[in-house]
Amino acid sequence: MPSGRVHNLINTAAYSLIAGSVLWGVRSGLLAITPAQAASFTVAYMAGTFLLSPDLDLSDRAVDSKRNWGFLGFLWVPYGLVFSHRGLSHTWIVGPLTRLIYMLLIVAALCGLVLLVYPQWQWPTLPALRARVPSVQVLGFKFLLPALLGYYVSQWLHLIADGVRPDHGLRRSQQKLQQVRQQLNKTKPKHRRKKA
Ligand SMILES: [Zn+2]
Repeated sequence: MPSGRVHNLINTAAYSLIAGSVLWGVRSGLLAITPAQAASFTVAYMAGTFLLSPDLDLSDRAVDSKRNWGFLGFLWVPYGLVFSHRGLSHTWIVGPLTRLIYMLLIVAALCGLVLLVYPQWQWPTLPALRARVPSVQVLGFKFLLPALLGYYVSQWLHLIADGVRPDHGLRRSQQKLQQVRQQLNKTKPKHRRKKA
């Protein structure tokens, strides 16, 4: 299994390749990408590489991706305790989603804490934000899609380097199902043979 530093190196090298190819594609008129979309992809890719790596499932111990969060690293300890290493966290579709949902839960908990300490606090509504800052259009589909792509590509590169196959999740659930079946067979009362 590559170390956190090796994963970072692989992802950074791959980013250079992707950026180079996209730049070539844009220059030769094969691709049409706005600077905002490129920035959205890049930020999400870097966040996926350095802050939201699948190895956060080891954050109950010292791990590179947890260290990158600085003093906020402790927030990922429960994630490391809940997810086993290279388990669900290392699946291709659901794995990256678990970290996004976990992060949203942390943000929701922090918002709740702010409201608890300061109940008069009023959150700005999205229309009000949009009126004040036009760049909040970032929440639109055009920017969310490259961000999602950037995030997922960074995660998949990590999984490829780990040697994790895309059907990892499926094989894992099949194995679990088999274990449950075996357990059920063991606990099933054996039928008594009738005496002739
Ligand atoms: Zn890993």
